[in-house]
Amino acid sequence: MHQTDYIVVGSGIAGLRAAIDLAEAGRVTIFTKAQITESNSMYAQGGIAAAIGQDDDVEKHYADTIAAGAGLCDAAAVRVLVEEGPLEIERLLQWGADFEREGNALSLSREGGHAVARIVHGNGGLTGKVVIDALLARVRANPNVHIAPFTFFSDLITDGDRVIGIQFEHNGKFASCYAKATLLATGGGSQVYSQSTNPETATGDGLAAAYRAGAELRDMEFVQFHPTVLSLHGAPRFLLTEALRGEGARIVNDRGERFVNELLTRDEVSRAVFRQLTSRPDAKVFLDTTHVPADLLRKKFRHVYTTSLNYGLDITRDRIPITPAAHYFMGGVQTDLSGRTSLRGLYAAGEVASTGVHGANRLASNSLLEALVFGGRAGAAMKEESEINPPLQSSEPSSGIFATVNQNIRDITWRYAGIVRKARELETGLELLDRMKEESNLLTVARMIHECALAREESRGAHYREDFPAPAVTIFHSYIQKDRALKLL
Ligand SMILES: Cc1cc2nc3c(=O)[nH]c(=O)nc-3n(C[C@H](O)[C@H](O)[C@H](O)COP(=O)(O)OP(=O)(O)OC[C@H]3O[C@@H](n4cnc5c(N)ncnc54)[C@H](O)[C@@H]3O)c2cc1C
Repeated sequence: MHQTDYIVVGSGIAGLRAAIDLAEAGRVTIFTKAQITESNSMYAQGGIAAAIGQDDDVEKHYADTIAAGAGLCDAAAVRVLVEEGPLEIERLLQWGADFEREGNALSLSREGGHAVARIVHGNGGLTGKVVIDALLARVRANPNVHIAPFTFFSDLITDGDRVIGIQFEHNGKFASCYAKATLLATGGGSQVYSQSTNPETATGDGLAAAYRAGAELRDMEFVQFHPTVLSLHGAPRFLLTEALRGEGARIVNDRGERFVNELLTRDEVSRAVFRQLTSRPDAKVFLDTTHVPADLLRKKFRHVYTTSLNYGLDITRDRIPITPAAHYFMGGVQTDLSGRTSLRGLYAAGEVASTGVHGANRLASNSLLEALVFGGRAGAAMKEESEINPPLQSSEPSSGIFATVNQNIRDITWRYAGIVRKARELETGLELLDRMKEESNLLTVARMIHECALAREESRGAHYREDFPAPAVTIFHSYIQKDRALKLL
């Protein structure tokens, strides 16, 4: 049995950012299931949105975020995000983040949905790594932080309605750790789809564990699909940033014909690509960059250029086969503006949380910002928690083999609760999931998505129902909680 002051589960940007604050107040243990550097955060390419440009201000960033969210954003959460964003960038610079510059000013790029250039970026498209490097250096330098890599968080431990710790598995052995506050910073669950841009760690473990413990989750049907992801047999689903389309890259079918305006929103382009791909069994879709100046591709898109070369594709000469893929969870464990969940002692920040900043659709590059701003706020709030009385004996290890990743579940979710949804298919998906004889995090997450998507009889943001193609007149959220009926409020 272990004890610390604060538990942080996950070593992405949200977890590391919170740990830096928490270490000022006590001992922090970061549990992370792979090596410390493995996370979605590490793969982030485009950058971080923040209103710091000459022609920008927080009102513009606020308006763009609200517009992308298609009526479902929480206005107070968005205000916190855009107002505190510039401070977080300033802090990262002080902590040594090496962002790209133009002269003395930070270089800012523009992405779809943003009225002005406001994306801070670094290292030729490896922005996530730039941020992780800066945060990790600070975390590692603090003797109050203990890092437990290759340690799988399996369940939350509760005492009444208060979370008092976690169960974890390391080298095949289960153990418990108790603390006065626990932060879930476990990221999203896009691996629940067979086509996913996310690394293997993104299996929704925090979402499923929070559900098992009785926490309330919100808007789980809202999954953002990215339209341009490398689709080559044997290669990982590598994301081809939309900045390529910003530079004129075209999306074409196997006859070389364009069929969609490449600069539409992610969900619109994803649906168009998906429809082409499912129009014939052997249909193919390509991203064509061959007319974009080769020098620009090699320099500005160095990461995409070199990664594609590893798979035998020269993007200055070859068209790139693509598929849409699950990319980001807008919904998650519901929190207030300080990361507090519906369970005392349990906090959530980053992609696992539903703070309300993304609504029905995330504005590109707002998620790293959310992880920074709300990771910091959760850390600050956790410091206020009072001591707990840990039990004299360790709790019984949980019975489920929650870490199992079953390919069937991934195929079902892609097929029946993917980019284009309808009632009959969602019901079929649920029936197939109900027949599964396992108790895994992936299955819990898949069920939640199916159930919430079935309940939402409208199309809004990233959630598209072919049988209800228009948005409803009233705005509502979906809430899902163990042993309670799903609520639409
Ligand atoms: C390819 C790609 C490109 C992206 N580009 C951008 C971008 O340019 N801008 C932007 O804003 N967003 C981008 N995103 C989204 C963004 O990266 C994520 O939303 C964000 O990094 C989430 O941060 P996080 O700290 O919440 O979670 P993560 O960074 O995903 O970290 C989660 C951590 O939890 C750990 N973990 C999970 N389960 C367990 C468990 N059971 N036990 C122990 N540890 C566990 C993981 O190992 C990991 O360390 C991109 C995402 C991808 C996949």
